Amino acid sequence: MNTLYLQPETDDTAIARAAELLRAGEIVGIPTETVYGLAANALNPDAVCKIFTAKGRPQDNPLIVHIADAAQIADIAAEVPESARKLAQAFWPGPLTIILPKQEIIPSVTSGGLSTVGIRLPAHPLARAIIRAAGVPLAAPSANLSGRPSTTTAQHVLEDLSGRIAAVVEGGACSVGVESTVVSLCGAVPRLLRPGGISLEQLRSVLGEVEVDRALYEKIDDTETVSAPGMKYRHYAPEAPVTVILGAPEQTADYIAAHSGSTTGVLCFDDYASRFSHCGAVLTFGSSQDVPEQAREVFDALRRFDKTACTEILAQCPPTDGIGLAVSNRILKSSGFHIIDLREGNT
Ligand code: AMP
Ligand code: MG
Repeated sequence: MNTLYLQPETDDTAIARAAELLRAGEIVGIPTETVYGLAANALNPDAVCKIFTAKGRPQDNPLIVHIADAAQIADIAAEVPESARKLAQAFWPGPLTIILPKQEIIPSVTSGGLSTVGIRLPAHPLARAIIRAAGVPLAAPSANLSGRPSTTTAQHVLEDLSGRIAAVVEGGACSVGVESTVVSLCGAVPRLLRPGGISLEQLRSVLGEVEVDRALYEKIDDTETVSAPGMKYRHYAPEAPVTVILGAPEQTADYIAAHSGSTTGVLCFDDYASRFSHCGAVLTFGSSQDVPEQAREVFDALRRFDKTACTEILAQCPPTDGIGLAVSNRILKSSGFHIIDLREGNT
């Protein structure tokens, strides 16, 4: 299959062509503010199956359904509690996915066999324009090969999926850079299943109590049943094994400098890069002081290790407040939770 590269900036027909492909049951890479999505008509099981095939995604890993208008939530969720309305009011359009019981109209393949469905109204104007033009909600997981770091540019999407998808729409680099926050409203207390562009603190400011799923902090065995099935799979991983060094940046930089050599890859904050000139590859992901910048750059840096000859990767990681929870979760997952903990009380 020849993958079309559609450029709305210079081609007035680009959005209509993407929408036409989606209506015809094809799959298309689309920009969103979080990461690029691999979209299909969420109501068409055959189209949704193509997403799983193209990505090599396990069938029990549910897809997020993207809408163009908050009112569409009522067409997809079986019930819309007050808490969902409050969240939508506060954070939509934006990087928040709300899990609710699903209506029949959502095929089982879209929800990974679950009776619930994740719903999101994206902020990226092109994403909303494409959903509107397609006239159907779009199921869209991250547009990467399963297991690899998510894609934050159209070029990344082509690297992973060229020849496997009908088209990709150019929308520039993603402004958030990590995937949406996933919160479930299906239990007695709201539960954070995946940290993302909306912080835990922001969720609590609207909902009060929010529980945090343990999959955020520890490796989940492949055979276990978890609330967010996606959390148990190897994710975001470069080819070389990653080890995360936890601690203050000064301390982790010292450790990495002392434990690295010419075949070591280092994932580090911009301000510490000069310490690792003896290493095989040094890829930075923003200033230690700028967590939103880290979120925008972390996947690109992780992906670039595969173009180097490094045989191991040692990584710095930000503290877990604000969007740092999402950035640190992605780095920890890229390592399969392989950690050296230098923090006080942990050595
Ligand atoms: P991706 O689109 O690749 O970021 O993956 C979407 C992730 O959202 C999945 O891997 C799940 O962790 C989560 N998710 C989507 N739908 C549901 C659902 N119905 N219940 C729980 N988690 C979900
Ligand atoms: Mg993904």
